[in-house]
Amino acid sequence: MSLIDKALKANHTYAKKYDRKLGGHPKPKVAVVTCMDPRLSDLPDILGLPYADLDVIRTGGPAVTEDVLGELVVSTRVLGSKEIMLLNHTGCGFTTFTDEELNAKLTALTGDASPAPMRFFSYKDPEQNTREQIQKVRSHPWIAKEVPVRGFIFDVETGLIREVHRVPQDAAA
Ligand SMILES: [Zn+2]
Repeated sequence: MSLIDKALKANHTYAKKYDRKLGGHPKPKVAVVTCMDPRLSDLPDILGLPYADLDVIRTGGPAVTEDVLGELVVSTRVLGSKEIMLLNHTGCGFTTFTDEELNAKLTALTGDASPAPMRFFSYKDPEQNTREQIQKVRSHPWIAKEVPVRGFIFDVETGLIREVHRVPQDAAA
């Protein structure tokens, strides 16, 4: 049996204990942008917040793309999230290649080039990535100034998260 078929079966058990009150409107409190990496899947446990409080936006990296910005606007302006958390991590798969390398590799492997070079949003330094994300989100005119935009890195070795400031703390001193 494929894992998806197995999951469909398990869903019947899940539905039996499902809280049907959740069928109303979502009421997220925090929008979290994080990587597709499976180690970041258990956010309620990682952050100690109920999953109903979290609007989770996941991309590889994570990359704060135009789509992600749109989702943050909806999360804060329409759904009611009050804070934005940009959660990067160590050991990210997207630091193991460059967009150029992966485009070349896949073109060679398949014998076909993508119609346009594909954007994978690879990066090298999670700290730098986090700073750029804070800047990008903070400077968007539709993200209200009173919504805090904070960046963090989850350490896959320890399970701890630490805050990254927009301007390095030692440079600010
Ligand atoms: Zn990642």
